[in-house]
Amino acid sequence: MDKEKTNQLYERFSHLYRERTAPLDSSQMPWGFQCEDGWYKILYNMSDKIKKNSSEGEFAPAISLVSRHEDGTLHVAVRNITPPIADIVTAAQEQSRLTCEYCSYSPAFLRTEGTRVKGHVACGRCATKVEGSGKPTKSRRKRKPLRAPDTIIVKR
Ligand SMILES: [Zn+2]
Repeated sequence: MDKEKTNQLYERFSHLYRERTAPLDSSQMPWGFQCEDGWYKILYNMSDKIKKNSSEGEFAPAISLVSRHEDGTLHVAVRNITPPIADIVTAAQEQSRLTCEYCSYSPAFLRTEGTRVKGHVACGRCATKVEGSGKPTKSRRKRKPLRAPDTIIVKR
């Protein structure tokens, strides 16, 4: 996720993301949001709900990882998790299953082919765009010239 969006989430939910400055051997949050910009809104809404369902303090929920599951969905790890918070995280994960990770368009789905987009949930447009960048262009097969159907070959 880009720096601007990352900072917006950190500023708005600074207590929830307090591990962003933790040592790397204790938390993965210092790596930031390990996904593309399209999931910003999902993360924002999820963080907002968690904030409203918890109080601040040492034992308040803290997010220690934001990345992607093997099935392409959003992966969020929370310390001091409680059942209501777990439900909020699950709902966000379910939403990510159909939301383009690049542009937030829905419905999108998990791409199983390609070199760059594989393993990501993407809409058709982004899948083509992401896959197209930096890839050598395929050489088109030469088409045989078609003979007009009404050509008559006259033997002499
Ligand atoms: Zn998209």
